Amino acid sequence: MGQEESSPVDESVPPTVLTSRNLSGIAEYIRAGKARSVTVMVGAGISTSAGIPDFRSPDTGLYANLARLELPYAEAVFDIDYFRSKPEPFYTLAQELYPGRYRPTVTHSFIRLLHDKGLLLKLFTQNIDCLEREAGVPGSKIVEAHGSFARQSCIECKTAYSSDEIRQHIDARTIPRCHDCSGLVKPEIVFFGEALPSAFFENRHLPEEADLTIVMGTSLTVQPFASLPQLAQQGKPRILINKEAVGGLGSRPDDVLLLGDCDAGVRKLAEACGWGEELEALWAATAPAVSEESQVEKTKDEKLEDEISKLTSEVDESLNLSKWHQERVRGSTTMPVDSRPKSDVQPSSSGKPGFGNTLHQDPNGNLSHVFLGQARDENKETDEKP
Ligand SMILES: [Zn+2]
Repeated sequence: MGQEESSPVDESVPPTVLTSRNLSGIAEYIRAGKARSVTVMVGAGISTSAGIPDFRSPDTGLYANLARLELPYAEAVFDIDYFRSKPEPFYTLAQELYPGRYRPTVTHSFIRLLHDKGLLLKLFTQNIDCLEREAGVPGSKIVEAHGSFARQSCIECKTAYSSDEIRQHIDARTIPRCHDCSGLVKPEIVFFGEALPSAFFENRHLPEEADLTIVMGTSLTVQPFASLPQLAQQGKPRILINKEAVGGLGSRPDDVLLLGDCDAGVRKLAEACGWGEELEALWAATAPAVSEESQVEKTKDEKLEDEISKLTSEVDESLNLSKWHQERVRGSTTMPVDSRPKSDVQPSSSGKPGFGNTLHQDPNGNLSHVFLGQARDENKETDEKP
């Protein structure tokens, strides 16, 4: 699989199957029944408007707070070896991110609508927030490429662990242990050093079978996910709904770019397909029944401040009080502070596609597979260095 050329298609080149290379052309293609199997590929950008904490920016304080937890490096919280010795920081974070706290966005509901219309072949998501499921997309239609909170298992013997039980532990701020071998239980989120779920590899041929590809809310920088849109056949339209052009989309005659906010973009597309009211009805159904102590009332900044201060105090508390920590403290202090010196950091390897078996960890220590939109900033960070 070669790297796709990224130069935009020349405006004089006519589309091959679309009547016009724009939103109307895509809508017409759909309305004409030509999009019978659609693959959708999404990333963090579709969940930002749900209010899920976005820690990508240094001034949100996550990294500063993680430093106070005496993590050897910030992303240790998602490192499987570190988790084995010290699971508390992850479990504290898991409490913040655990499904049930956030409402799906209208973009999630749009994917549900595609499914209801019988058009959704498969959704590939990089998100671990399970909001696609909460919007009503069936699990069988979703490939959670970086895992999710939907299932959990023992990291030693792989025995599955019940969702009810792990929720109880998360609520009680205790660490779940395997009933069979007493190993640590972990949600099946892909940690650094872990293989991608087999479902990713079992389904990655599907983009080639689709007659429409929709890419939304992703910077397409984390491999191997980033290569999926390239697998779409030539002559099958692709539409990117995203803040900026990414991943070579726009280079083919039937590529349409709808740049801007995801929610606004899917609303326009649904409207153009004649689905506007259905979409709004589906999304309205995701609203929480009661919203006492509603987070929705708060501004994004207020909410973020709450999350950060809660995160800090809870992690401090669990680190101080946890019996697991006490048991393991002898070993846990042997990891050197900042074991990944900045001098090892190399710029991203130009995003060459590849299908390795493990998650491509960003060399900048990026948590983009977990934290929303973080990958978008990686180049900026490099540029800022003198
Ligand atoms: Zn076990």
